Amino acid sequence: MSGLNEQWLDLRSDTVTRPSAAMRAAMHAADVGDDVYGDDPSVNQLQDYTADLFGYEAALFAPSGTQSNLLALLAHCGRGDEYLVGQDAHTYRYEGGGAAVLGSIQPQPISNQPDGSLALTDIAAQIKPDDIHFARTRLLALENTIGGKVLGLEYLQQATALAHERGLATHLDGARICNAAVKLGVSPRAAVAGFDSVSVCLSKGLGAPVGSVLCGSKPLIAEAKRWRKMLGGGMRQAGILAAGGLYALQHQYARLAEDHENAAYFASELAKVKGITVSTPQTNIFYVDIPADACRGLNDVLQLTRIRVSMAPRLRIVTHMDTSRDDIERAITVFGDFFG
Ligand SMILES: *Cc1c(COP(=O)(O)O)cnc(C)c1O
Repeated sequence: MSGLNEQWLDLRSDTVTRPSAAMRAAMHAADVGDDVYGDDPSVNQLQDYTADLFGYEAALFAPSGTQSNLLALLAHCGRGDEYLVGQDAHTYRYEGGGAAVLGSIQPQPISNQPDGSLALTDIAAQIKPDDIHFARTRLLALENTIGGKVLGLEYLQQATALAHERGLATHLDGARICNAAVKLGVSPRAAVAGFDSVSVCLSKGLGAPVGSVLCGSKPLIAEAKRWRKMLGGGMRQAGILAAGGLYALQHQYARLAEDHENAAYFASELAKVKGITVSTPQTNIFYVDIPADACRGLNDVLQLTRIRVSMAPRLRIVTHMDTSRDDIERAITVFGDFFG
């Protein structure tokens, strides 16, 4: 695990973590088979474990969260159908328009409220009547956490109930649902209650190298499996990857609280620095607004001190299992010196 990356403190995303020795050992030891035939015991174990953890009948391992979300959209909706989704949602904004391009599914974006939710009145207003002029509204897709913000259980219950009353299915982009569950202090099952499907990312805060898992009913997952094959996501001895994911769920779930504490500490210390505005993190992500003229100089300093952050469109900081409290103290000093 040597190399240049080791010397950088990488706060761009929680996707940058590298597998620990124990995770690598689990991957090394994984029993494997051909998963396209359904023969990979480690993939099957991950799928069974995840389905049970989140309270669904079945689950499917996918190479990425983007593909896992797309599988859900394709399984829920057909050509000419429509899904309701947030303007800022990953499935709408950051997945290359896959639902429209590959599924002929029309997105109906709805402005996200400041707390990340979609207003119930906006959802209701966008459900189209049965009329040949309109696409058929089939699905409500929400995201939790969204931009690091946690949607509350009461809101989720209301939104999913509204969708179901109106005959829509519900999908949750739960790339960081484990962060949400830990923050809410509820079980994974409680965090996804009301959703017909959920996509869970293993390679973000949970720290696995690759993969997401889509959970849903048996028929939905059977349909998703057809699409996964068509999209080229049918992998062979994928158990090596699945074992890393299973290890992550079993051993690196509870420690997400540490990332939240580190983000809270980091943000509260940065908030003392004059001239910048710091958002209050709810989980492991926060944003820092810096006067435009300061950005260039800061970039050079971060380069020099080997700290990476996301700068566009806003400065974003993400804590994760490879950022220790000492690392964060160092970053606080760098920011403090720059603005001090
Ligand atoms: C990262 C992310 C995805 C996509 O996951 P990839 O594995 O990067 O394709 C989907 N939704 C949300 C909310 C994400 O943060």
